[in-house]
Amino acid sequence: MPDGKKDSEDFEARAKELVDAGYEAVEKAIIACTRCPLHETATNRVIGKGSRTPKVLFIGEAPGKNEDEKGIPFCGRAGKELDKMVEYMGLSEKDWAVINTVKCRPPENRNPKKTELESCKPFLLAQITLLDPNLIILLGNTAEKAYCPEKKLEWGVPENVEGQTVLKLFHPAALIYTRSRTGTQHELIDRNRGLWE
Ligand code: SF4
Repeated sequence: MPDGKKDSEDFEARAKELVDAGYEAVEKAIIACTRCPLHETATNRVIGKGSRTPKVLFIGEAPGKNEDEKGIPFCGRAGKELDKMVEYMGLSEKDWAVINTVKCRPPENRNPKKTELESCKPFLLAQITLLDPNLIILLGNTAEKAYCPEKKLEWGVPENVEGQTVLKLFHPAALIYTRSRTGTQHELIDRNRGLWE
């Protein structure tokens, strides 16, 4: 069996056990997790925030300094940018939630390694199944690499990935670094409003 297929079956089997145990058990398992070295330097596990029945589930990258200190995703500058994006999309509080690809902060805010993304993937898959969104918005390439590594999605073009509608948009932090992308992001959102309205 090719390694990729075996890995995906392993993630899915572990995710199913977590799903069967329920969301609170997933939270406890994340807090106790030592499956990859990121737990050694993490202050807090950053599990997720928002609705437990979201229409739209955003998947970010990894916790940063503020998130690690508070244990809450998107609570710093990128969080303010995500709030603006959510407002532009017209989503209310009950409509959305956000989680990250890995639950522990990578040192010096480096990108998560492939092995770390894979170690954390059962949590990601279990959260997606339990939150059961209509739409997943991948915030940037790391989210894509974690969720559907075999795909290369176009920015702002929705795809059906194994029965789940998925859309890739810019990460809010990328909008802070390159302000000119905000206009493009708005165009991509406008083009896809039918997915959540
Ligand atoms: S990043 Fe994920 S897999 Fe790694 S230790 Fe933290 S919770 Fe576990």
